[in-house]
Amino acid sequence: MSIRVLAVDDLPANLKLLSARLTAEYYSVKSLSNGLDTLDYCRNNQVDVVLLDVVMPGLDGFETCRALKSDPATRDIPIILLTALKDEASRIKGLNAGADDFLSKPVNDVALISRIRNLASQKQALEDMRTHSINALRRVSSHDAGIDGFDEGAESFDDGRNGQILVFDDDPIAADKITRSLAAEQVTKTVLTEEDASAALHSCDWDAVIVGLSNTSSDPLAFLSQLKAPTEYRHLPTLVVAKPEDEKRLQRSFELGATNYVMMPYQERELAARMRREVCRHRMLREMRLEMENTLELAVIDPLTGLQNRRFLERQMATLIDQSLRYQRDLSVMIMDIDKFKTINDIHGHAVGDVVLKEVSHRIRRSLRGSDLACRFGGEEFVCVLAETELDVAVLAAERLRREIESVPFIINDDGSKVKVTASFGITQFMGRHDSSKAMLKRADEALYRAKEAGRNQVISKAA
Ligand code: GH3
Ligand code: MG
Ligand code: MG
Repeated sequence: MSIRVLAVDDLPANLKLLSARLTAEYYSVKSLSNGLDTLDYCRNNQVDVVLLDVVMPGLDGFETCRALKSDPATRDIPIILLTALKDEASRIKGLNAGADDFLSKPVNDVALISRIRNLASQKQALEDMRTHSINALRRVSSHDAGIDGFDEGAESFDDGRNGQILVFDDDPIAADKITRSLAAEQVTKTVLTEEDASAALHSCDWDAVIVGLSNTSSDPLAFLSQLKAPTEYRHLPTLVVAKPEDEKRLQRSFELGATNYVMMPYQERELAARMRREVCRHRMLREMRLEMENTLELAVIDPLTGLQNRRFLERQMATLIDQSLRYQRDLSVMIMDIDKFKTINDIHGHAVGDVVLKEVSHRIRRSLRGSDLACRFGGEEFVCVLAETELDVAVLAAERLRREIESVPFIINDDGSKVKVTASFGITQFMGRHDSSKAMLKRADEALYRAKEAGRNQVISKAA
């Protein structure tokens, strides 16, 4: 699908020219002549980038920009302000109104096109992130109605200040100007060599990186491409500082994934304003990513013990059964239940009960192989699935775990007081095509029941 550009200018001649250039790039172009129509159009249509003339009767470009950026329905649409004015004040005013970039007329074609493409892909990244986090949540919710909805519009207001910024420029004077520009709003660290830059990347949780494109001691584009390779740093906003004669390198850096730029000799306030945008975007994306990871993790991990939960087990067992059928591999299941756990709670309190559950989980994890699946099935009951393990071996594993729980009393208090804990085990193994995870769990549970009946603290298996 082509990039959808909305061009807004009150002069028909300008619009026609602009539209012709963009159409030649195979963008799909919609033209409008005033601010109010722009707000209306953006709320009701898909737009990837808005090109907005500053001087218009009625709502001018600044006001339109501010309105688009303050409406959650339209705030993700990148805006490029176009103006004949060259004055600094307008640039700053535009950036402060939330504009993503600012180009002076007559607009340089190459700059315009590369900037549109770059901003459209930034918007796409943001949208993908939103879709992913919402889909992740849907998948989770369809299994568990208990997890609250995910509030898409919940990001709190962020002024984009107090970010941690890594500055890489081998020219100390240029680096110094960058630092000065940001001194009032951001925390910066300057490095002069690529080696130091690479090392510094690991040292801190950066919000953005600034790279001087006129670096001569090493190739700044190589550094950029390294940064944007599929590593943990690829999401870091990257602002490049270019010289007017660096036009080619500037385009190249946008292709490599730079997210913003300033052109020398820039005004300090302009760099500061652009940096605020980057820091703010980065924090928003990071928050969404974390939220998504947490949501996914919550759905499969038991928060008390850190083991997998029952839902995860049920899904995973289907996969394990499939594999064991396909490759004719053994598969065993162990159910374990703490003996007289209610008594521990009754005597020592629920908090101590929790400590015991955690320590039991720890011993389970420690005694199993990494490839075994360990989950808290509910209350004080645990299920472990041992892949590529036949019944006899699973019984030995259970016996080992039983001894590890029995032989070392559990420390339940800071004063070192201890409690003795034991557990009972029921084991079974996968019997082939006509067997199922439900039937296996049932057999293991029957074996466990017999272990309890026979006096607890023992392992009983049931083949079929
Ligand atoms: P048995 O040997 O027959 O298994 O006896 P039991 O006391 O272990 O079994 P029962 O099922 O009667 O009691 C289980 C207890 O586990 C009851 C419940 O309060 C407690 N329990 C369940 N979940 C938790 C938890 O998350 N934390 C704590 N502290 N206790 C829990
Ligand atoms: Mg019990
Ligand atoms: Mg129980």
